[in-house]
Amino acid sequence: MIRVHAAARRAATFILLGASAGGAQAAPRAVEREPRPAATSIPTPASVIGFEPGTDRKLPTWKQVTDYFTALDKASARVTLRTLGKTTLGRPFLVAFISEPSTLANLGRYQQIQRKLMDPRLRARAEREQLIVDGKLVVLITSSIHSTEVGGILTPLVLAERLARADTPEARQVLANSIIMLVPSQNPDGVDIVGDHYRATLGSPNEGSGPPDLYHHYTGHDNNRDWYAFTQVETRYTVDSLYTPWDPQIVNDIHQQGANAGRIFIPPYMDPVEPNIDPILTAGTNSLGSAMSWRMISDGFTGVATNASYDQWSPARQYSLNHRGVRILTETASARLASPMDLPFDRLGPGRGYDARETTWNYPVLWPGGKWGIGDIVKYQTAASWAMLVEAARDRQGWLESYADMGDRALGPNPSWGREAWPSAFVIPKTQADTQALQRMIWTLQHGQVEMRESTAPVTANGKTYPAGSYVVLLRQPFGSYAKALLERQKYPDLREYPGGPPKRPYDVTAHTLPLLFGVDVAAVMGDAPATAGILAAIPEPKFTTALSESRTRRVAIFRTTASESMDAGWTRWMFDKYRVPFTTITEKDVTAGALNGKFDAILIPDQSPQQIEGALGPAGAAALGAFVESGGSVLAFNEASSFAIDALKLPVKNVLDGAKNTEFYAPGSIFGVEVNRGHPLAAGFTPPVPAVWFEDSPAFDITDPAAATAVLTYPASGNAMLSGWLLGPAKLNGKAAMVDVKRGRGHVVLYGFRPQYRGQTNSTFPLIWSAITKPAA
Ligand SMILES: [Zn+2]
Repeated sequence: MIRVHAAARRAATFILLGASAGGAQAAPRAVEREPRPAATSIPTPASVIGFEPGTDRKLPTWKQVTDYFTALDKASARVTLRTLGKTTLGRPFLVAFISEPSTLANLGRYQQIQRKLMDPRLRARAEREQLIVDGKLVVLITSSIHSTEVGGILTPLVLAERLARADTPEARQVLANSIIMLVPSQNPDGVDIVGDHYRATLGSPNEGSGPPDLYHHYTGHDNNRDWYAFTQVETRYTVDSLYTPWDPQIVNDIHQQGANAGRIFIPPYMDPVEPNIDPILTAGTNSLGSAMSWRMISDGFTGVATNASYDQWSPARQYSLNHRGVRILTETASARLASPMDLPFDRLGPGRGYDARETTWNYPVLWPGGKWGIGDIVKYQTAASWAMLVEAARDRQGWLESYADMGDRALGPNPSWGREAWPSAFVIPKTQADTQALQRMIWTLQHGQVEMRESTAPVTANGKTYPAGSYVVLLRQPFGSYAKALLERQKYPDLREYPGGPPKRPYDVTAHTLPLLFGVDVAAVMGDAPATAGILAAIPEPKFTTALSESRTRRVAIFRTTASESMDAGWTRWMFDKYRVPFTTITEKDVTAGALNGKFDAILIPDQSPQQIEGALGPAGAAALGAFVESGGSVLAFNEASSFAIDALKLPVKNVLDGAKNTEFYAPGSIFGVEVNRGHPLAAGFTPPVPAVWFEDSPAFDITDPAAATAVLTYPASGNAMLSGWLLGPAKLNGKAAMVDVKRGRGHVVLYGFRPQYRGQTNSTFPLIWSAITKPAA
């Protein structure tokens, strides 16, 4: 796929300025040489937003970004702007389609070609060749999902202008061969949350710091962990309006990383690879990423890292790799938001998989250090996305052929890769303890383009017989391998820093098994596929309801620290809003003011580091919480907040994992089985077929005074509690409590040694929260 001589290409489009910044080598100063036509009608970003993108200390508002794209849409026949809906906080969510005018005028036709290439059932055998000749390469670019990664707010303006204006042969090839869907921000609300905070702190000691509020109202940084659960409207706009109708061949997601290692990360990723991803996509990602870094390094960019930091595991971050698209994540080094920083070479250090002070195969050219600012970030991001567009457009036909191949493989004999036998189907009985959870799971699968059917005869699986009319997911379907990833249990590989050494930290969590998270009975069918009727129509998302919905009988407070809101606090708010359960957000000020029983019946402390909570509340806050409980209040402490509650309220409970080394015990986001104390009122609504909890940097408890505290959930006394993900040192959990109810005075403290509403996904353990609010034990 790499055919053009680098030097020739560089001479055509770039010159390198030799500006040296703090080192012997030239800093990358790739500048567009293309002459701009004097009388162009294409507006520059500066003419609309008032400054050149990449100017130090300047960030646009979302209104300015919207204005620019609106102006571009008006001025350029190559750009069509669409609004996909309103964000969580009411801003317009935008996508710009960019291509040749003749392509944009026929998007419906190209979408049909794309569908037929994706799904062999929609095309005649003889049609394939012509579809590949006629089709376009569909590329989705999403930017600034993480709002403190502020280069991503500006880079789309530069890219869009360049595509609208460019007239070089390579740009013409990009436009002729591709349909580009550019989402200038996957989180428009955050553009203003961060931008307003930045402008308000300019010139103060806080200049360049992040805002105290989450930059996505409910999820903060976790908005990029929502790509199989689809809990947020922004995720749904991109999935429903761009992924589902188009299933792009290539997706470029523009991010920023920390400041002190490489200047940019480009795939290949590090291990592990989710085993259900078609290896064509892994190889395609590796190939395109390598071509991009080759091109950038040829163009004079330094500090380019590959095979570093980021892995290819969780579908929470990589919708495309589970839906026929390579995923080109780029992560450019950050500054202090839009304020520059000085980074001498000596202050650079190791990233994961390389060291920014050493030349290695995956970090072939050192960045010499020096000033680093928003201009550099925009330059790197733009160059990377441009390299991707150019390299991909060179081989449109190759991309479309391998895209069609994946469709054939998905519908052919399974598995097309790997060695383990695949089930032919999963069966999901319609009679389940939790019908909301069942409906949510079917909705979630269908929303990710999984086809659901019903069995026409009883199905035997896993030693049980399920009646005719049960839901069936056949593996032989366009996205059968994605369904398999979500329905099976994960076996995360035992990766170590070196043989016998400490575990290699995963980039994110290690499990994503929907039946365990939601609490739904699902069985794998081995052997012949069950007989089924046709594809079922999409079912609606359930209207989530609990006894507390729209009820003010219990007065609930959700705690957050003023200095920074934890993501878990955001997710807790999301769950309460989703279930329409009223609540009040309180901070340390409200707690230390005391007299809490006059206002609240229950106070939730979401997962947050005990040091942060303690630092905010101090002894006065701890005393006020203690008085609240003594007088009949309930305190619910989620995950790490349990350790705060144990210390602050001097509870007769000990975290047995406190101080455990990661060589002795390690579980960075896994699903564990628990035994349920059926006699305890808090467990009454917890009825999943496999009782399980989400364990992530969690405690496990010993009760030191059985008269004052009772275990509600306990890890098995022997064997391995792990059901999905990764666990080192299972013996440490044996017989330990996972959830404890502590009686104190007339009230209760409930300790959850897990995340009971992990990312809005652990439907199975939601009832353990509702029960602790509604009916504390006498
Ligand atoms: Zn990011």
